Amino acid sequence: MKFPCFRKLAGADTLYAIEGPRHVMEWQPMGDSKWLIHKHYASDYPRYQWIQELLHEEGEAKAISQEEWQVSLARRTGSEDAENIPQVLSDWSFKANTTFGVDATAKRAVEVESDADVRWVLEQTREAELPLLVLGGGSNVLLHNNWNGLVLKMAMKGVQVLSDDGRELDVVVGAGEGWHEWVMHALDEGWNGLENLALIPGSVGASPMQNIGAYGVEVKDRFLWLEAIHQETGALERFDFARCEFGYRDSIFKQAERDQWVIVRVAFRLDREAPLQTEYGAIQQELQACNVESPSHRDVAEAVMRIRTSKLPDPSVLGNAGSFFKNPILDSVLFDRVKQHHPHVVHYPLEDGRFKLAAGWLIDQAGWKGHRRNRCGVHDRQALVLVNYGGATGQEIWSLAQDIIADVQTKFGVQLEPEVNQIQG
Ligand SMILES: Cc1cc2nc3c(=O)[nH]c(=O)nc-3n(C[C@H](O)[C@H](O)[C@H](O)COP(=O)(O)OP(=O)(O)OC[C@H]3O[C@@H](n4cnc5c(N)ncnc54)[C@H](O)[C@@H]3O)c2cc1C
Repeated sequence: MKFPCFRKLAGADTLYAIEGPRHVMEWQPMGDSKWLIHKHYASDYPRYQWIQELLHEEGEAKAISQEEWQVSLARRTGSEDAENIPQVLSDWSFKANTTFGVDATAKRAVEVESDADVRWVLEQTREAELPLLVLGGGSNVLLHNNWNGLVLKMAMKGVQVLSDDGRELDVVVGAGEGWHEWVMHALDEGWNGLENLALIPGSVGASPMQNIGAYGVEVKDRFLWLEAIHQETGALERFDFARCEFGYRDSIFKQAERDQWVIVRVAFRLDREAPLQTEYGAIQQELQACNVESPSHRDVAEAVMRIRTSKLPDPSVLGNAGSFFKNPILDSVLFDRVKQHHPHVVHYPLEDGRFKLAAGWLIDQAGWKGHRRNRCGVHDRQALVLVNYGGATGQEIWSLAQDIIADVQTKFGVQLEPEVNQIQG
């Protein structure tokens, strides 16, 4: 079944747009010229059942076409949204819109600001049989070639408090909000818990994709749910924590459901009294160095920002996408074998008995740190980061990455995996 589907109540003007198996927008006539608009989300069985009945025309509401729905909606005010069509751009540059700064273009690109825009784009790509690439801030992608399809650039904004008990609050944020800007906004409001994730580039919508993490905190620690539109059916669905299958830099959206969904909003549970997490990395030393004795959440964010700025290259100066590789996770047998030959290998024991190795250490020990190959290379302060010195193609950077993977495999018997999404075009 394709979504949205449209229904009209027999003998009345009430209209419904069914956006997914659990989401319905209802337009109820108010006086002669206005609509009262309700957004229904079926979080319990009776409401789910009601949507199913609406869907299968088991009640008094009958199916109408999108055209009939638009005509009915336009009879009253407040219907302009149905007519708004987003602008399609041609020969769109990835150089200006991704942090690696690779010179590649997309045939078409559209900035989307609403669920309706997303559905419109999905329809266009289906009709024109164009491949679709969903993009947020472009800080975790490497384009190997030009993109012979359409880029859906997420620009949906908005921050809305759903509930607040005086201490904890649930907040839903548009997928197109900048991640760092959102973290700063939350701190300004006294909504805490995300401070260790300050200064991570990119968008809110991409944050659950790889379960972004830094300094001992991951987005999953404050995640409540997200809503996403299915690329094939147009259905809007809600993903709770369990359904996202979060892992280390991983989620269902990078695995079984890869390229199936457009994430449109993410909800977080924040806590005004969230415990501070300062044990990880150099946060405590940084706070001490600045003579901060009883740090606030904002102090922790600022310490994290100073550490990150001193360690990581600024993409506006030197093209990069942060850590290019994930830290490999080894079972105890393989780990013992590595440790036997390399007793100083940097590692972290995990709760499940496995071991996480520092990929940066492996790459450094293999002799790649600071290595330059023509227009790209390995950063001289952080071996995990591959950099574009200017003019490097995606294929040059990928070829360097492959040589590093092969060399680490030969020297340590450990397989590195890229964290950055490889886009073949
Ligand atoms: C300097 C630097 C430092 C970094 N540090 C960290 C760090 O500390 N921790 C960390 O975890 N990451 C880090 N990153 C990686 C990156 O910032 C994150 O992965 C971020 O979440 C990517 O967001 P984005 O909006 O730029 O995603 P994009 O690069 O635009 O997209 C990434 C992937 O997500 C998909 N996608 C994007 N938006 C959506 C959406 N709305 N719906 C469906 N799919 C979508 C894209 O198709 C793509 O596959 C760093 C990157 C840089 C450049």
